[in-house]
Amino acid sequence: MAKNSKGKIIVEIIKNKCIGCSNCIPVCPPDALFMKDGIAELDIEKCIGCGKCVKVCPTNAIIIEKAIKKEPQIEPLVSAQKSSIAAYKGIWVFIEQEHNAPHPVSWELIGEARRLALKLSAAVSAVILGGKKEELEVFAREAMQFGADSVYMASSESLLEYRTKPYAEGLVQIVNKYKPEILLIGATTLGRDLAGAVATRLKAGLTADCTGLEINTENLFLEMTRPTFGGNVMATIFCENVRPQMATVRPHVMPMPKKDAARVGKIIFDDLKLPEAEIDTKVIEFIVDAVCSDSGLHYADVIVSGGRGMGKAENFSVLRELAFVLCGAVGASRAAVDAGWVDHSYQIGQTGVTVRPRLYIACGISGSIQHRMGMQCSDCIVAINTDKNAPIFDIATYGIVADAIKFVPVLTKIFREKLAGKNVFAGVEK
Ligand SMILES: Cc1cc2nc3c(=O)[nH]c(=O)nc-3n(C[C@H](O)[C@H](O)[C@H](O)COP(=O)(O)OP(=O)(O)OC[C@H]3O[C@@H](n4cnc5c(N)ncnc54)[C@H](O)[C@@H]3O)c2cc1C
Repeated sequence: MAKNSKGKIIVEIIKNKCIGCSNCIPVCPPDALFMKDGIAELDIEKCIGCGKCVKVCPTNAIIIEKAIKKEPQIEPLVSAQKSSIAAYKGIWVFIEQEHNAPHPVSWELIGEARRLALKLSAAVSAVILGGKKEELEVFAREAMQFGADSVYMASSESLLEYRTKPYAEGLVQIVNKYKPEILLIGATTLGRDLAGAVATRLKAGLTADCTGLEINTENLFLEMTRPTFGGNVMATIFCENVRPQMATVRPHVMPMPKKDAARVGKIIFDDLKLPEAEIDTKVIEFIVDAVCSDSGLHYADVIVSGGRGMGKAENFSVLRELAFVLCGAVGASRAAVDAGWVDHSYQIGQTGVTVRPRLYIACGISGSIQHRMGMQCSDCIVAINTDKNAPIFDIATYGIVADAIKFVPVLTKIFREKLAGKNVFAGVEK
């Protein structure tokens, strides 16, 4: 067989099979074929190895083969990882903390890890990184009260402020040392940044923004479910060959577990080597982003939310007033955000925030699947809508067919008189 000068394409025209039909000539994109003495000839240097000539030859007179460059095989690595999978045990939850404040999503994930651990007969551990050991110990105790059996704790001067490199390096070091089977991280801004960097270093893969986690009863893999194709399809993903199985989950997707002050456990401490000289970024000052944090939606007990039915930006003032009287926060549907009536940080739903308040008042919101994904776990849903057939009424605890712009001020007046400035849930256990 003839080879081109790069040795990439090997072609043979079997002369005694060629009948000179010239079918191959017009289909050749680089004009590498031509007729000579009544049979096909090939300019091998022009040939791109597309194989179109092979398909149209009625007598199978053209044989083409591409010399396949041997890529480094990943199979042996995967096999090696497969054999070591058994070494990975337990479910870990990364405890996110910044400036001495743990993120509540960490506790939600400990609750979820406890549920999954029952099916795996595994232990639940928290993993905490930070700058000061004594501060981390407070969170370690809290993690155990929320359900962790043990806590892996690591501190280093370089972990005082969150930076991707030292946190990722630190977490990778501990994961490689203790080998958890599952690693769960909150899908917060920090968590998303960290999880991607850690998964890349561990070559572990990551299912981001999961809305559901389950253990497959047959193979005991973690099934990680998340919306895909713009939310039209739910994909359940599992990781067969590599450990740990990594997922991020948005705040409020999982319920907050109850705290048991009597629960204690073991703390395993590591002093990490993360030389500052090897870290390119330095934190000069920490400034709270007022725009992102002012919606106050994430952990509000009461949310008064408005949609396209509110008609215009100015009408959101009636929602703000009701939210103020109920000591709650204002939320919005995407239609209201897209109309420019409120900032995107207020958007609730699939592409906004997920909330789980005690009381959700939906005003002029139809109840699309994308909106419901962000609020359907609210304890009590009150829907105010002019259309008695609006889908929001299917999930509402109480439905009110009314014009929200007129009805909400009436509600506000009643609550103002009844509550006289008190928090509607003050002193009421969830
Ligand atoms: C990939 C993707 C992601 C998305 N993500 C989100 C998301 O995160 N969050 C989200 O909300 N949407 C999201 N959407 C958009 C979603 O599909 C809907 O278009 C949106 O939720 C509709 O908002 P709405 O209910 O305010 O408006 P509409 O569906 O137009 O409903 C308005 C409602 O107001 C009622 N109404 C009208 N006037 C009044 C009045 N005076 N008083 C009371 N009721 C009144 C009407 O009867 C109607 O039911 C997403 C869509 C896609 C494709």
